[in-house]
Amino acid sequence: MNTKVAIERCDVYEPEKLYLALKAAALAADFPSAEGKTVLLKPNIVMDSAPAKAVTTHPVFLEAVIRLVREWGASRILVGDSPGLQGPNFTARGCGLGETAKRCGAEWVDFTKGTMELDCPEGKIQRRFTVSKVLQSVDWVISLPKLKNHQLMYYTGAMKNIFGLVPSVTKSPYHVRYPTREAFASMIVDLNIAVKPVYAFMDAVVAMEGPGPSAGTPKQVGLVLASANLLAMDAAACTIVGYPAHLIPGNSEALARKIWLNDFSEIEYPLLKPEEVKVWDFVKLPFKKTRNQLLDFILPKPLKKLIPNKNPLPAIDHKICIRCTDCVKICASSAMSLKEQGSAKQIEIDKNRCIRCYCCHEICPAKAINI
Ligand code: SF4
Ligand code: SF4
Repeated sequence: MNTKVAIERCDVYEPEKLYLALKAAALAADFPSAEGKTVLLKPNIVMDSAPAKAVTTHPVFLEAVIRLVREWGASRILVGDSPGLQGPNFTARGCGLGETAKRCGAEWVDFTKGTMELDCPEGKIQRRFTVSKVLQSVDWVISLPKLKNHQLMYYTGAMKNIFGLVPSVTKSPYHVRYPTREAFASMIVDLNIAVKPVYAFMDAVVAMEGPGPSAGTPKQVGLVLASANLLAMDAAACTIVGYPAHLIPGNSEALARKIWLNDFSEIEYPLLKPEEVKVWDFVKLPFKKTRNQLLDFILPKPLKKLIPNKNPLPAIDHKICIRCTDCVKICASSAMSLKEQGSAKQIEIDKNRCIRCYCCHEICPAKAINI
């Protein structure tokens, strides 16, 4: 197993500077020859927001990766993602990634145009996934995460980014099936085992602190990361922003499988070390108690509802809610509704139905949902 994570400085979204930083990182962390390969680049587009909001992987970062992957020999480069609420014909226009892909000679792919079943016999809790059919026609998947906080998983990075291969609203049922942080993380690990992404480049030039993955604040970090080992990259990124890597459910679940690492101490840093580039004032999310994971696995479904969910409920700020009802559409447990309140209408949450998946918080365009 390759345990190298290359961390390199880059302060600005400037094409040449980013390309040189990524190239140095790729060389240091053994980016393999892509000769003749069809490569799918998977940026993080949780919401089709402007690049300056730091919600998505930056388009200039994508541009630099396309140049690099082509230089390494790729014969065909595809780019795509499928945010939770996007219907067919999503072109990633708002974030600039669709246009950048085309301008740089790559092909933008719509993940909702056909699905396929992907078996995962080694999966711990999920043995089959319905994913975008594009996987059938690519040799490699490369994850291009943005360094961000995540309300459910605390941190979202290279491994979590692969969940975007599950198209659009078909993601929501996974939240219902795996309502605890640990169970959801376990499903993400199974998905990574099935998809087998070969490499990851992380955009940590400007990260997102506070209530990510979409309602947080941009934070200058000034780094890019490269690795063939997505778990090692995630552990490194967590350390940089101050999370204990082993306490992040995605990391601990992945480590327990002993596929990518046996211990975080095995990670090698050929360039900068996380301790040298720590962002001491990064605003992290507080750790909260979750439901009892063991009970969650062994109890039958009707009894599971009796276990109290100790995660906080989402709360609507009615003053800034624009009543778009996106949250109602994405809520897989039908806990949200637009109700009459006197002469007006407002969004309400049924706290008995809410499973605290925070999908509503993730897609709210007005940042009107607080956790
Ligand atoms: S998604 Fe946000 S703005 Fe839209 S209705 Fe829900 S709370 Fe209001
Ligand atoms: S109300 Fe929000 S947090 Fe609760 S289940 Fe619905 S989408 Fe998830």
